[in-house]
Amino acid sequence: MSGEANPFESLQEQIDDAAAYLDASADVIERLKNPERVLETNLSVELDDGSVEVFRAYRSQFNGDRGPYKGGIRYHPGVSRDEVKALSGWMVYKCAVVDIPYGGGKGGIVVDPDEYSEAELERLTRAFATELRPIIGEDRDIPAPDVNTGQREMNWIKDTYETLERTTAPGVITGKALDSGGSEGRVEATGRSTMLTAREAFDYLGKDVEDATVAVQGYGNAGSIAASLIEDLGATVVAASDSSGAVYAEGGFDARAAKAHKRETGSLSGFEGADEELTNEDLLTLDVDLLVPAALENAIDGDLAEEVRADVIVEAANGPLTPDADDVLTGRDVSVFPDILANAGGVTVSYFEWVQNRQRFYWTEERVNDELERVITTAFDDLTDAYEAHDLPNFRTAAYVVAIERVLRAYEQGGNWP
Ligand code: GLU
Repeated sequence: MSGEANPFESLQEQIDDAAAYLDASADVIERLKNPERVLETNLSVELDDGSVEVFRAYRSQFNGDRGPYKGGIRYHPGVSRDEVKALSGWMVYKCAVVDIPYGGGKGGIVVDPDEYSEAELERLTRAFATELRPIIGEDRDIPAPDVNTGQREMNWIKDTYETLERTTAPGVITGKALDSGGSEGRVEATGRSTMLTAREAFDYLGKDVEDATVAVQGYGNAGSIAASLIEDLGATVVAASDSSGAVYAEGGFDARAAKAHKRETGSLSGFEGADEELTNEDLLTLDVDLLVPAALENAIDGDLAEEVRADVIVEAANGPLTPDADDVLTGRDVSVFPDILANAGGVTVSYFEWVQNRQRFYWTEERVNDELERVITTAFDDLTDAYEAHDLPNFRTAAYVVAIERVLRAYEQGGNWP
């Protein structure tokens, strides 16, 4: 991370930027800038050697005006109360921009999962699920995967919840394995929405995506799948990075081969398809047509934004650009398509998973992908319509204008009670 911005302050600034174009009172906007509640808990977990370690964990329920709180659970040593609050707020506006009937929430545990055994991680996850049990539920708050969590953790949480509640409630959590009530297409969904956003963005800007060169920062679930699907559009992936550094090939490389190399060796380093190894910062400032930040918050700050040479940025990560970076890039006419649209495929297919769980009726992968495409392209059009109608400075502000208007309408229709 090159920037020091506090992600919660970044979220609040993004809301203020959009509020300037909305006819809403300051007190109503203030309500939209702060979580309704945050659970902070300390989980005592027995390690394999018999000792006990205490892990701090959070769940922020930011806003429930449009439906149950919804959002992932992150395992990372950098998790903090403010980060979780920011991520939960981004979920509110993400669900609103794609118009799915959820509010926003997020959780996290301060832990580096690489340092613990599978049995330790299971005890940690079940301890967190036990703390979450009174505040989650199919109609209350529905967690999902995020950084360093996946099907395995979701299955444990579902099992803990169902065992303690003495019921079956697969819709209490999404991102589960298929046999535990997961959905076709969920693993690829975040990267798929990044690809769809890039495709629509190039079309909107009158550029040919088939001729585009692409750099992807972060090669986990979102980044590696976005790279593979953008490559399928005909674009050339020339660079990718992970925490070990970046790889580059002037003529491009096979995005799926890079993913296979990372799966086999644990990192991109040493990938034979590349000619050169670069630093993460070199990657972010490459002269490419499309840059996809797909790692963590604050990847690009104001100073680095001055050096960015990409024409278009599509955000697969949550919060990868600081507000200073946004100001610089807006001034330099770099088109940024925001996280709350470009990575919304994850939560959109989570919504489809939840619908399938509630109905006990499961869809084909083709149906999931078709419905996802409809949701993302409709949201893209809503965003660009708002951008043009209000003559907005950038696409992020357009996304927030659309999303905040939707949340406000639900709030006003319900009224302020009690
Ligand atoms: N963690 C993902 C996100 O940031 C997915 C959330 C979900 O599926 O609820 O959007």
